[in-house]
Amino acid sequence: MARNPRYDVLFEPVKIGPVTARNRFYAVPHAAGMTNAMPQMRATFRATKAEGGWGVVCSGYVSIDPSADDSPLPFATLWDDDDVRSHALMTEAVHRHGALAGIELWHGGGSVMNRTSRTPPLSPSGISWMATHVGFMGNQRPKAMEREDIRALLDSQRQAARRARSAGFDIVYVYAGMGYLPYEFLLPEWNLRTDAYGGSVRNRVRVVRELLEVTHEAVGGRCAVALRISLEELRARASDSAASEAHEVVGLLADLPDLWDVKLDSSPTDCAPSRFAPEASHEAVIDFVKQLTAKPVVGVGRFTSPDTMVSQIRRGVLDLIGAARPSIADPFLPRKIDEGCEQDIRECIGCNICISSWHDGVPVRCTQNPTIGEEWRRGWHPERVPPAKDPAPVLVIGAGPAGLECALTLGRRGYEVSLAEAAAEAGGRLRFETRLPGLAAWGRVLDWRRGQLERLGNVTLYRGNHLSAEEVLQLCSAHVVIATGARWARMLYSPLELPVGTLAGAAVYTPDDIAAGARPSGPIIVYDFDNYYMGSVLAEYLARSGEQVSYVTPAGHASAWAIMSNEQPQVHRALDACGVRLLTLTRVTGFADGVARLAHQFTDAPTALECASLVIVGARFARDELYQALSSRGEELQAAGIRTLSRIGDALAPGAIVHAVYSGHRFARELDAAPATLLCRRDAPLARQAT
Ligand code: ADP
Ligand code: SF4
Repeated sequence: MARNPRYDVLFEPVKIGPVTARNRFYAVPHAAGMTNAMPQMRATFRATKAEGGWGVVCSGYVSIDPSADDSPLPFATLWDDDDVRSHALMTEAVHRHGALAGIELWHGGGSVMNRTSRTPPLSPSGISWMATHVGFMGNQRPKAMEREDIRALLDSQRQAARRARSAGFDIVYVYAGMGYLPYEFLLPEWNLRTDAYGGSVRNRVRVVRELLEVTHEAVGGRCAVALRISLEELRARASDSAASEAHEVVGLLADLPDLWDVKLDSSPTDCAPSRFAPEASHEAVIDFVKQLTAKPVVGVGRFTSPDTMVSQIRRGVLDLIGAARPSIADPFLPRKIDEGCEQDIRECIGCNICISSWHDGVPVRCTQNPTIGEEWRRGWHPERVPPAKDPAPVLVIGAGPAGLECALTLGRRGYEVSLAEAAAEAGGRLRFETRLPGLAAWGRVLDWRRGQLERLGNVTLYRGNHLSAEEVLQLCSAHVVIATGARWARMLYSPLELPVGTLAGAAVYTPDDIAAGARPSGPIIVYDFDNYYMGSVLAEYLARSGEQVSYVTPAGHASAWAIMSNEQPQVHRALDACGVRLLTLTRVTGFADGVARLAHQFTDAPTALECASLVIVGARFARDELYQALSSRGEELQAAGIRTLSRIGDALAPGAIVHAVYSGHRFARELDAAPATLLCRRDAPLARQAT
């Protein structure tokens, strides 16, 4: 199909210093969990974005010397010439698809602990990031930088920029954002200096200016020099000479960088979950930058709508449409717009599972795109699947995220697929969860798959079809795939941190009951030891319906795991805003006669709380009765011509939606694979030169 002329502006080339991007689609630097130890995976992952039409594809954060060591988090290095070859794999792969390659050179300053390099961290005045989350805590405080440390920093940036040029990068970054070293010079809380690098804005910006100057000098006009900067805090600060300190900083540096890459200051606001922030949420902070510089400006905002992108360009907010998450969820987003197939874009749902992968220290995962990070090691392409070797009929039972993804991928491979769903509509858990506060965008998991399935003539969805073992045997499919999901348990929680016992009673509920229409009466306790979104979102949902709600958890925070997905700070604000009382480090030990018995998780000190209804959000177990019933009838399966009987998604092992989608996709890819190909390729660092 032809491109909609309304979107032509997105495909105009943009000059960035000495290089030119073929269009306005800019895959910004983002953590992807692939260090120099995974050079092939990293190169193919980024090359796939280039193939998908992005004009620029950037690296993740790349440390310039051992005083910036973020271990155990996965960061890349450009510390010596051996590191050059690892990055060159990526630039060559990206260039083969006609995109420019950018590299985000990085120094973490007082936000890192240098756990492996064991050199003292550095910060402008010895201030350290003292986070509330244990993953970012440490006991090593930074050294206050002396003039010679600043000289060494500039030298490291200069050398890293030279190496970046040798590795073939087209755009080389100075990174002054997100609590890292150059940003620390910009903010007076970090920068208490009284020399030429502290005090006035002009002084505080000096390090950034000098970093830009040495980078320009090092790349010798062959690469563009980009400045990535966080502007949220600076914009909130008054200035004597400009509308804000952010205006003053941008005005002082104006045309020194070849490109401004503008963002917010902390991961939970910069990479905000859709539960709490809409598309284009950065605009109010960064909208002024283009008025103060003649150089192009790129920014992000979880852009998936081409109309929103065009609006950002037409209204003079941005020159380049930056994307991290939308480029993960759909590496082919630009090409789909170019080819008039924008309805095929697999839109990011803003769940931030991708971010959680970085916190976990593993290659990037995505709820919407199961192929991300698997391009090289499993050979999975986001848009192409291998044809079925033997396109025998497949029956998939359950049209939740796992069943839908499995049926879609099998269908694309050419299998004849019947997808049976007990409920009147497809969607599984999404049917309920997308109606909960802030989770509407998660419906894209269902919408995209439903839209794609409608175009396939070889996949038929049978709604309102609850299948029994008997009925499955009668259908005589060659392959039967059980995707019947999981159910929540009414179990409590022990001091050993394990689910135990079962709490009976008419006023004891699980999320399944509420999904099925039960309406608990107040006062309600939502008791959460699942620790992801369900407990807090249900508390919010019930409180908003007018009930008095307390949220009780043995963990230290509400939705404790959601620190990994950037949601936790906003979860606390949301619960507070709707009047939910919060009790942490607390177990529920019993519930009778309108009173819940509680105990402190560590001391066991007992308390009690008035409670008419208890909602337990804890353990989940597979809903696999159908699988068990069928697997006990081996001979009948054979007689019915059923060659394989399998489970996927929550029916195999309950998890988040990302796990279900991945499970369904992998099953469909590997249904006819020879056992040897089930193993994935293993990446390894490139051998170092002998010294
Ligand atoms: P997953 O996340 O693994 O996809 P879900 O719980 O979201 O799991 O979806 C499972 C789906 O399976 C639900 O929509 C449920 O209605 C459906 N289902 C469960 N048992 C049967 C059955 N026997 N026949 C048809 N559909 C079923
Ligand atoms: Fe978007 Fe979620 Fe995928 Fe991240 S994991 S890219 S937020 S859909």
